[in-house]
Amino acid sequence: MHWDREVDVLVFGAGMGGMTAALVASLEGLDVLLCEKTDQVGGTTSTSAGTVWIPGSSQAVRDGVPDSIDDARRFLAAEIGPRAEVVREAFLAAGPAALDYLDAHTEVKFRAPPKHPDYHSNRPGRALAGRALSPLPFDGRLLGTDFDRVRPPIASFMVLGGMMVGKDDIPILLKPLASVGSFVAAAKLLLRHATDRLRYRRGTRLVMGNALVARLFYSLRTRNVPIAFDARLVELVKGSDRVEGAVVGIGDKRQTIRARRGVILATGGFAPNDKLRGEFMTGLPVAHSNAFAGASGDGFSAARAAGAAVDDKHTNPAFYFPSSLHKETVYPHILLDRAKPGLIAVNKDGRRFVNESDSYHDFVEAMLRTNAASQSVPAWLICDRSFIRDYGIGLVHPGASRREIERYIADGYLHCAGTQSELAQRIGIDGKNLVRTVQEHNRFAETGVDEAFGKGGTEYNQFNGDPANKPNPCLRPITEPPFFAVAVYPSTMGTCVGLSTDGDARVLDETGVAIEGLYAVGNDMASLFRGVYVGPGITLGPALVFAYRAVMHLASNASARDGRKRISA
Ligand SMILES: Cc1cc2nc3c(=O)[nH]c(=O)nc-3n(C[C@H](O)[C@H](O)[C@H](O)COP(=O)(O)OP(=O)(O)OC[C@H]3O[C@@H](n4cnc5c(N)ncnc54)[C@H](O)[C@@H]3O)c2cc1C
Repeated sequence: MHWDREVDVLVFGAGMGGMTAALVASLEGLDVLLCEKTDQVGGTTSTSAGTVWIPGSSQAVRDGVPDSIDDARRFLAAEIGPRAEVVREAFLAAGPAALDYLDAHTEVKFRAPPKHPDYHSNRPGRALAGRALSPLPFDGRLLGTDFDRVRPPIASFMVLGGMMVGKDDIPILLKPLASVGSFVAAAKLLLRHATDRLRYRRGTRLVMGNALVARLFYSLRTRNVPIAFDARLVELVKGSDRVEGAVVGIGDKRQTIRARRGVILATGGFAPNDKLRGEFMTGLPVAHSNAFAGASGDGFSAARAAGAAVDDKHTNPAFYFPSSLHKETVYPHILLDRAKPGLIAVNKDGRRFVNESDSYHDFVEAMLRTNAASQSVPAWLICDRSFIRDYGIGLVHPGASRREIERYIADGYLHCAGTQSELAQRIGIDGKNLVRTVQEHNRFAETGVDEAFGKGGTEYNQFNGDPANKPNPCLRPITEPPFFAVAVYPSTMGTCVGLSTDGDARVLDETGVAIEGLYAVGNDMASLFRGVYVGPGITLGPALVFAYRAVMHLASNASARDGRKRISA
């Protein structure tokens, strides 16, 4: 075999999994090359909220919300049962060490918000805080010209031509006059953004997934880790007993690169790939994806061609968002509207079918579960004028002007009518039932108890509601005409089906034996959560931890052979 180049570790994909792996490999003294098929880093990670679900961290202790690994173990046993236990234990064991390692040696830093509940917050062992960690904001200016290499967030999640808004910023920007503190904070945000826009195409105050990607990228650049852009995995090169390297496509040229220690696949799973969706999501009415189009199954397919086994034994093959569609935008309804008081979701029969304030994934599970009996794809989010004023719905911002509302109506995104029956007629659902459903909901809103679906009944529900709304932060009567509707469809945020691995992210073959020299992390690796969405950050958390574990495995083999100095040693 002729090799054009040789490295210790060859990593494919510059999202959470791949950037973390390349960073740790460099810190462990290995000669690493990170190949990214586009001209930007970030993948789906850059458009995410950036939350990582990692139990028992020292960051949680430091921030005053300690969490226990034993509780997390109990919680996972209740949620998932006896499945993927080897990988699960490996995740729990290495999570805190992986976070501490990045915290000590890189700019990749997290904090534990005072409240960020698990999604089934009535289960034993659940955490209300301390398990879901957020990346610290990052100043994109530190990247210099490399700032343009960071894939931007979803356009509809930014305001004023490119200003990122974190969850904590929303109340400040919505009500700047609420207090002197709010006014000063809002003025600072706006001034910073105005200054940024004189020099940059978008705001440089980065939060959430964009901050995480920028922190990883900045740390890689600081260590001079080589990154090849526009360099894609074409196929893996397998010798008699191990993966030896890969063929990499750079423009219309091909290079063979030998990976002395191993190849790490981190190409982001296959959520937007129609063919693979057809194979693993047969019969499911899920036609849309919020994942980055470039995360199209390249690593997954290359590994299968090299003999890797697929792990498809999951409760759901993917994790979901309910999304509304506007032109090219697939807008995920994550937390800003569904849980707020004064909104219900109904099916074609004009009936509710779900607790609207449950997690986005559980919401879609209910859509898919009930769709055969009564069409709930699409489902309809219904609210009144006061709801739009206070909370907004989907792409329509809180306090939207009449002109903005009319624009969305003209585009067919928002539907509007003076009465509920008229609205039902416009969107083609049962009008009599809708009127009855709203009446029943309004009765629940008065008592504060949703007798049908329990909206606002858990700590997680209430977390995303409006604490000022009494007695239930998620329930308020729908009474003020005109009435509005937005259609939502199931969409994938990421895949759960992935390559079968062991607890060190080593890819397994059909007989369950590790393929030497081949690792898979991020969404290329099958999810340890088995299609059950237990809390915020359950794809990025494992992506971080298994990138760390994969490199530690590979590095310990390497140093045993060549005696290199390792930071972790
Ligand atoms: C709106 C939104 C919010 C989300 N919020 C969260 C959250 O808060 N917490 C959480 O845990 N999850 C969240 N997710 C899901 C999460 O973002 C993804 O699961 C995660 O980013 C996947 O990380 P990854 O490293 O596997 O892949 P990605 O981040 O998608 O990176 C994959 C990279 O591989 C590159 N690539 C693809 N093919 C090749 C090839 N052949 N050669 C070289 N490179 C290649 C791609 O271009 C891409 O840059 C969210 C998703 C969305 C859409």
